[in-house]
Amino acid sequence: MIIILKPDVDPNGPEVQRILETLHYYQGVTTRISGVTGAERKVIEIYVIGDTSRIPDEEIAMLPGVERVVRVSKKYRLIGRHTADQESLGFDYNGLYFDQDSFYIFAGLCAVDTPEHVEMMFAALKEVGITTSRMGAYKPRTNPYSFQGHGRKCLPWLFELAGKYGIRCIAMEVCKEAHIEEIYEELERAGRPTGVMLQIGTRNAQNFELLKAVGSQEEFPVLYKRGMGITIEESLNACEYIASEGNRNIVFCLRGVKTNLGDPHRNLVDFAHVPVVKGLTRLPVCVDPTHSVGRRQIAPDGIHEIFHAAAQGVIAGANMILVEFHPRPDKALCDGPQALTLEELPHFVEDMKIVREAYQQRKDLASRYALQSLSPSIQVVRR
Ligand code: PEP
Ligand code: MN
Repeated sequence: MIIILKPDVDPNGPEVQRILETLHYYQGVTTRISGVTGAERKVIEIYVIGDTSRIPDEEIAMLPGVERVVRVSKKYRLIGRHTADQESLGFDYNGLYFDQDSFYIFAGLCAVDTPEHVEMMFAALKEVGITTSRMGAYKPRTNPYSFQGHGRKCLPWLFELAGKYGIRCIAMEVCKEAHIEEIYEELERAGRPTGVMLQIGTRNAQNFELLKAVGSQEEFPVLYKRGMGITIEESLNACEYIASEGNRNIVFCLRGVKTNLGDPHRNLVDFAHVPVVKGLTRLPVCVDPTHSVGRRQIAPDGIHEIFHAAAQGVIAGANMILVEFHPRPDKALCDGPQALTLEELPHFVEDMKIVREAYQQRKDLASRYALQSLSPSIQVVRR
């Protein structure tokens, strides 16, 4: 059960106290208060967890300070698109606005390696007018003897270089709660020259304690990558953990699913799910063509398979692309064989612009047809 409070109700005031006392009268329930910043206003909600079946909705709804009471029978109650909740879950971060209509390319290194490579990447982004990047400092690897990222020690120069080239947001994976604190401290120490979107990798898609940790802070938005071997529904439920802790600044990322049926690609591209996730949730949706395809291969039409996969996501309305580049893929410490080169960046950006425009045209076309199909009934009403 969720109790949504009226605007301006003080979470520490007597009205909330009275609501909590009433709820705690019923045994076996616990409560948690959460402040949620929506697109239009900040909302305070009380989550009631446990056996709420005996709590009468009407009685709670009558208490001073209560706007409405919602029974959580629906899945992914907070991130979901339900009839009573159509307000956009868009959010501002460091001068960028993310929602189901926005569009960003987060291009960069799989793993931070040298200052020279990072600087070359940022300079190339600046050249094409992009202010969003990806850079892994903490890398969960299948093989314990593989490079696992430079961790905290690369953050000072990474953030400084990001500031130098006007990068406003870097997507960066975190594998445990302490990483969030490290990023926060190093950003502060550097004077906040850039921003960070905390990435939950596919291997941690159901690491519920980590999801709670990124959810219980409001400093950084979260890029949640779907689990590689679980259903969309399971991934959305896991993603709901983040929102249920209070942070709703979330982007949901499709990155392919693990099956041999995707061979010769690293994963089976799942970008047909872009409109599905946009329909089930109110979150912006990202696609990661790099980890889906997993190789540099130019198709007979002269277009990279990674470009083709990205285009599939963008033509279907994706709001963000997470894609790996490297100035010297042969020297990359992680995922070199799937990295695009800096020479290919302007081509990629132009290609995605074409596809994004085509998507906008498809949307306009759909609304024209929708209007046409309405017009006969409008005529009937006029008569
Ligand atoms: C990544 O984006 O750096 C990554 C490791 O991706 P995934 O978690 O999707 O494998
Ligand atoms: Mn990678």
